[in-house]
Amino acid sequence: MTPMTAESESPDGPMSAGTGRPVRLALTRRAGRPARHLADLSRDERRQVAVSLGQPAFRADQLSRHYFARLVDADETETMTDLPEGARGPLLEALLPRLLMPTRTLSCDDGLTRKIAWRTADGALLESVIMRYPDRATVCVSSQAGCGMGCPFCATGQGGLTRNLSTAEIVEQVVHAARVLRRRELAGGEGRLSNVVFMGMGEPLANYTAVTAALRRLIAPPPEGLGLSARGLTVSTVGLVPAMRRLAGEGLPVTLAVSLHAPDDELRDELVPINTRWPVAEVLAAAWEYAEASGRRVSIEYALIDGVNDDVARADALATLLAGRLAHVNLIPLNPTDGSSWRASAPAGQRAFVRRLRERGIATTVRDTRGREIAAACGQLAAEPAGRARHVESATTVEAAGAANGSSAHGNRVLR
Ligand code: SAH
Ligand code: SF4
Repeated sequence: MTPMTAESESPDGPMSAGTGRPVRLALTRRAGRPARHLADLSRDERRQVAVSLGQPAFRADQLSRHYFARLVDADETETMTDLPEGARGPLLEALLPRLLMPTRTLSCDDGLTRKIAWRTADGALLESVIMRYPDRATVCVSSQAGCGMGCPFCATGQGGLTRNLSTAEIVEQVVHAARVLRRRELAGGEGRLSNVVFMGMGEPLANYTAVTAALRRLIAPPPEGLGLSARGLTVSTVGLVPAMRRLAGEGLPVTLAVSLHAPDDELRDELVPINTRWPVAEVLAAAWEYAEASGRRVSIEYALIDGVNDDVARADALATLLAGRLAHVNLIPLNPTDGSSWRASAPAGQRAFVRRLRERGIATTVRDTRGREIAAACGQLAAEPAGRARHVESATTVEAAGAANGSSAHGNRVLR
């Protein structure tokens, strides 16, 4: 853990050499490197760590099974009875540190949706959302704390980037969701996690190495990983073309979602600033390469913003771009965020947009609006200290109990 450190804003230290006057001291939380966790490592690397602790290599597999197959939480390690008491402590310390503390847990949709705000050991904030449907259960994970892409309609983008998450910090959000579902903590009885979408905070392809390692870990069967089907995994990107091409070459059969939001560069430059670097035509060319390489339909994400990008002429232009491609359009009613006057399209405008795309033969869905009341919908994930989120708490049912001191980090109580 990196403590709060007092740092001078001057390279000369607290006393400026030039003037002899004291410079202002700023409390700066230095972004730390998260502790190593078994989910950061391959199976072989974990085994080497066990051996370096004087333990047989298979102890690393035992520990990995507790984590990935039994979904044991870090405060239930006494249930790991196959690990001799003397070996357990050092193994846990070396391979299973607690990486994420829940700071707040909110639920809605009759208990079928839950948002968890997390704090990392070095104080970075991130969020994940678990959503239960009749036929599947999905967790929406963060790949970065914050995001540096600056899309003006997105709450995360407005806060800037804190840091990349580690592989294990990403995997841990997923394992937590699997645990919550298995333990019937969400309404609807015991559930099995089937889908993971990288649509929380951050731009996954700007944290390429950690995200692709996390994907591999999620797919690999225990003890290497969690054993999810690759078909249930979706990576959403703002359109970082070189990274999209690289992902196409990884042989990971995950679904790619591309956040387009406008068919023309003039408007997309405004909605998605990175478009000035990689314009629409290049982003779509990379998307089609991905579709070709993976054999999977690319999902084109399009947030409908009233009077901005929801005119039928743009539906036509979009249809022309996508005609004959392995793609479908996923329309997202805009979630209004503080600091922006943009609103979701009116129902009639949304219907006309959908109708035109379908008339032109483009498969189109409208994303549901799960989690709206708890600010858990797309683009609303902007973790902030508890005190600043009153408007959220008033609509909520769940609070983290004991999270502040970490003593019962997963002991969240439903207050309803
Ligand atoms: N950075 C990635 C993934 C995280 S954002 C990306 O941009 O694709 C996940 C999705 O939520 C993206 O499609 C993004 O455009 C969308 N989104 C962001 N803010 C939104 C908002 N206010 N309303 C609706 N969708 C939003
Ligand atoms: Fe980042 Fe995606 Fe939000 Fe844009 S929409 S700021 S890329 S999280």
